Amino acid sequence: MNLDSQSLDCQSPDYQNLRERISRIRASIPPEVRLIAVTKTVSVEKMRAAYVAGIRDFGENRVQEALAKQEALQDLPQITWHLIGPLQRNKVRKAVEHFDWIHSVDSLPLAERIADIAQDLNRSPQICLQVKLRPDPQKIGWEPEDLRLALPRLAALPVLKICGLMSIPPLNADPEETLKIFGEVRDLAKNLTGLSDLCLQELSLGMSGDYPLAIQSGATMIRLGSILFGDRA
Ligand SMILES: *Cc1c(COP(=O)(O)O)cnc(C)c1O
Repeated sequence: MNLDSQSLDCQSPDYQNLRERISRIRASIPPEVRLIAVTKTVSVEKMRAAYVAGIRDFGENRVQEALAKQEALQDLPQITWHLIGPLQRNKVRKAVEHFDWIHSVDSLPLAERIADIAQDLNRSPQICLQVKLRPDPQKIGWEPEDLRLALPRLAALPVLKICGLMSIPPLNADPEETLKIFGEVRDLAKNLTGLSDLCLQELSLGMSGDYPLAIQSGATMIRLGSILFGDRA
């Protein structure tokens, strides 16, 4: 069932709640920070409600799931779609077609493939390079030294708007460690910008559990799921 915005039940407690959470968080962060609503496993009805409450940036971590939702929400103008999950080689074409931002570019072959396809489709996606500053088998991401070495090759892909870094601290990192990691990501972005023609001014940092620390560290984008929509099943 797809509710259109007219028939959204704006009196329902669920909707009121979502609206309140969105406005509370929006009011607590600097206006220039992009608030990305992470909607993996979230229904299109709830996404519609989030849209009505002012959300224009949606983050999904699976291409296939996102495509179905984009189709269901195609009547809503001005949505910016963010791919935030690992991208498999065979999904690159669809990802380039259907997302404005890709936050999870973690290797040179992936960047080069995105560039080839972007060229082909005459698209120019915004890219964040996902970095990993602590060993973490659960997470993808460049190690800083590998990224440094790859910079010239990345800078030679002008069809990609490579404009920032993304990172996810290890699950067990305490607040102090998380703050430290976010600060290191910020410093790394500055450092890499000084070493190349890339301008890494975007910092995609912070999720429900740690976004205030991310803001404190200079995040320009935060990716919030459960704090807006409740725990995922
Ligand atoms: C799921 C997810 C989020 C949101 O996580 P919450 O803790 O629910 O806010 C943010 N970023 C990425 C990459 C995710 O996969």
